[in-house]
Amino acid sequence: MRYDIVIIGGAIVGSSVAYYLREEGFSGSIALIERDPQFAHAATTLSMASIRQQFSIPENIRLSQFTLKLFRRLKEEFGAEADIGFREGGYLILAGEAGLPILRANHAAQVAEGADILLEDADQLTRRFPWLSAEGITAGAYGRSGEGWFDAHAMLMLFRKALRQKKIDFISASVSGIERQGDRVTGVSLDNGERLEAGTVINAAGPNAGKVAALAGLALPVEPRKRNVFVFEAREKYADMPLLVDPSGIYVRPEGSVYLTGGAEPEEGDGPANAGDFEVDWPLFEEVIWPVLATRIPAFEAIKPTRAWAGHYDYNTLDQNAVIGPHPAVTNFLFANGFSGHGLQQAPAVGKALAELIVHGGYRTIDCSAFGYARIAEGRAFRELNVI
Ligand SMILES: Cc1cc2nc3c(=O)[nH]c(=O)nc-3n(C[C@H](O)[C@H](O)[C@H](O)COP(=O)(O)OP(=O)(O)OC[C@H]3O[C@@H](n4cnc5c(N)ncnc54)[C@H](O)[C@@H]3O)c2cc1C
Repeated sequence: MRYDIVIIGGAIVGSSVAYYLREEGFSGSIALIERDPQFAHAATTLSMASIRQQFSIPENIRLSQFTLKLFRRLKEEFGAEADIGFREGGYLILAGEAGLPILRANHAAQVAEGADILLEDADQLTRRFPWLSAEGITAGAYGRSGEGWFDAHAMLMLFRKALRQKKIDFISASVSGIERQGDRVTGVSLDNGERLEAGTVINAAGPNAGKVAALAGLALPVEPRKRNVFVFEAREKYADMPLLVDPSGIYVRPEGSVYLTGGAEPEEGDGPANAGDFEVDWPLFEEVIWPVLATRIPAFEAIKPTRAWAGHYDYNTLDQNAVIGPHPAVTNFLFANGFSGHGLQQAPAVGKALAELIVHGGYRTIDCSAFGYARIAEGRAFRELNVI
């Protein structure tokens, strides 16, 4: 079997690349290879499914803005039934005195990109959100529109369903080898013993992307990092509550009648997760998250955790930013990796960008050159400061 393009990983990034390749007019053959077709362990389906414009780097803001526009015209793109339950609840990123300069600089970058983010002091914030305690807070940046949350599984299914009409071969298998002759990748081998020749290979393997790159003899500093999400009930329901990020890094947002929270993993000791480890670290909720929530939102003194899950971030250890585009030497091997906790919201834009690169030979809608592999080879960080 020979395919013009082989995409390794069929969750949101791989599906989006395949979708936009066809949208941009690519007529060659495409194989989308996925080892976990129920997506039980994909970052996509285990994510917090939120979208923001509050990034420090203009390119990241632009990627999210592309997706936001897509969300706002979802039915035009995917049909009248399309619905991902997008709720434009906003983000509220809080800072104490120490975090204020960064919050201000980020806010300036966001406003320059046309984002609807307000920078408010502690008094303004507590007037806007009476349930909030401003203890230790100097200011906060609030996304009045253009930010919120949605159903990640529904989004993935929209893309996957659309692909069925686009002549894509879905292959359920694990890529166990990548063949290379000099500066070209030539094919992939699968764990079922099959071998596919490939004109181009795209790495969309999420947290496993570092290992997949290594199969081609290429270094990519992307590894799985475990992140826990806890669900809890509270008596008080705050309909106006945004996704709140405390200066400690702990976040909380409403999800229907319950709340989701996380962000408690300590920096110290944070390292690669065992690929099969999805066990929830419950002590993080009791010992770290709950005290912070009860301080920030006093009514959350009385809450009841009901369930939890753990997923893996596709963590870029160099600079917590995406790696997008071809390897400079092995130019028919392309990366769409290392999103470090913000890849779901970037996936449509990245799919579009890579499709433009392949079909037209250059980026047209969003220039993703700054995310290119060259910086990885040089060890030059392109750092995103707002990693949640
Ligand atoms: C707890 C948590 C919260 C998050 N919250 C957010 C958020 O609020 N907003 C946001 O934008 N992002 C968030 N993210 C990040 C986001 O989920 C990821 O960046 C994004 O889903 C990456 O998509 P992907 O398709 O690259 O990876 P994945 O969804 O992990 O998909 C990769 C796929 O590749 C397959 N694969 C891997 N290796 C092989 C192989 N060798 N052969 C065949 N198939 C293979 C895997 O089975 C998998 O299905 C969060 C992540 C986690 C874990």
